[in-house]
Amino acid sequence: MKFGTKAIHAGQEPDPSTGAIMTPIYQTSTYIQESPGKHKGFAYARGKNPTRVALEKCLAELENAKHGLCFSSGMGATDAVAKLLRPGDEVITGDDLYGGTYRMFTKIFSNYGIKFHFIDLKNPANIEKQINPNTKLLWIETPTNPTMQIIDIAACSKIAKRHKLIFAVDNTFASPYLQNPIDLGADLVMHSVTKYLGGHSDVVMGALCLNDDKLYEQLSFILNSCGANPGPMDSFLVLRGIKTLHVRMDRHCFNGRKVAEFLKDHPKVGKVYWPGFTDHPNHAVAKKQMRDFGGMISFTTKNPAVESTFKLASSFKVFSLAESLGGVESLINHPATMTHASIPKPDRERVGVVDSLLRLSVGIEDIEDLIGDLKQALG
Ligand SMILES: *Cc1c(COP(=O)(O)O)cnc(C)c1O
Repeated sequence: MKFGTKAIHAGQEPDPSTGAIMTPIYQTSTYIQESPGKHKGFAYARGKNPTRVALEKCLAELENAKHGLCFSSGMGATDAVAKLLRPGDEVITGDDLYGGTYRMFTKIFSNYGIKFHFIDLKNPANIEKQINPNTKLLWIETPTNPTMQIIDIAACSKIAKRHKLIFAVDNTFASPYLQNPIDLGADLVMHSVTKYLGGHSDVVMGALCLNDDKLYEQLSFILNSCGANPGPMDSFLVLRGIKTLHVRMDRHCFNGRKVAEFLKDHPKVGKVYWPGFTDHPNHAVAKKQMRDFGGMISFTTKNPAVESTFKLASSFKVFSLAESLGGVESLINHPATMTHASIPKPDRERVGVVDSLLRLSVGIEDIEDLIGDLKQALG
């Protein structure tokens, strides 16, 4: 089946008892047992819930993976992957990472004896220099947040395989519609389902997709033991959101291109970060591994003063100033003080997260209204 058909049907059967076409919200914490241990595959809802199981199957199919696992947030999913590690283990990851992931690695897991190397992954040859016998995990994000760097997934996978590292890709920005890391050799795909998959800014959820049975058993064990499971209502909302993922993504990509081109020509705008530009440093890699370039764009204004950027960020009428991304509505965000505030200033500035940087999540409104809003705000 092709993507749009999978988005609507994968993992979902009409309810056998009523014929309901939509997967019911199994709002239950427990399930009756005929005799101790004898049940229909469901014992307690932290471990398994039918609404969640339908969503996990759907996500797995969208990522061309064998298994899916849902968590109460993207960070919950990342936390489960980090819990595969032991004291003394080392992780190689990017120097332009979602702020929350950076915070979890540096403020939580480094206290448990795990060492993290934050390196420039634009050239995958840098990875091999950091590998030693303790290296266990390669964690990448592409496109990166917020500077839209593109990391070569297939090249990273070759290195990870050669050194027997677990290779995980945070695929939140692209969504499975634009990029399937497992097809390019990744062991694990992580999603903040909160973003494009949910798509309507009404759910916080995370997911992992993978092929390996043993790794799936380990991660299911961590999920059930540590309890970062999402509820059935949220699972339902995401199943419903995913039904329009392909249609929404087409419009995100169309609007994203128009907004990126508008910004590039604007006299008050400095740099524009969008992987669809032919002069983007890794445009060729983006073209190779992505089906289109998405709706995420960052840009700097020529005035470097933070006050001027704050004023601009508050002067939009259609774009809303808010954290998060990937919903139908357009959002604007100031990474340096919002999503990436937990990264030390010199570290964030080195990768381009300066005070005059703004990030747009271009929604699916009419493009004329979005461009009109940018025009009036930039003046
Ligand atoms: C939002 C986000 C996360 C964290 O996901 P939550 O659902 O907010 O916990 C991780 N990675 C990326 C790229 C994100 O944008």
